[in-house]
Amino acid sequence: MGVVRFFLLMVAAWWVARLLWRWLQPAPPRPSQEDAAHILSRCSRCGTLIPQDLVVWHEDRPYCSLACRPS
Ligand SMILES: [Zn+2]
Repeated sequence: MGVVRFFLLMVAAWWVARLLWRWLQPAPPRPSQEDAAHILSRCSRCGTLIPQDLVVWHEDRPYCSLACRPS
């Protein structure tokens, strides 16, 4: 039972963190909901491949994180 509760807690924490992350990001321009899950973008600064739902957009360019995004 302890393991199951721990697992459920981890899933819940991950889900909340993901919701918070999305909520904190400015709404990115997306082609469509279906494509968004499959497309990988390349960071305009360091070239890292990023899943579409984690892309940080700035002036229509994708970035992997706030560290790469120009201020
Ligand atoms: Zn980057």
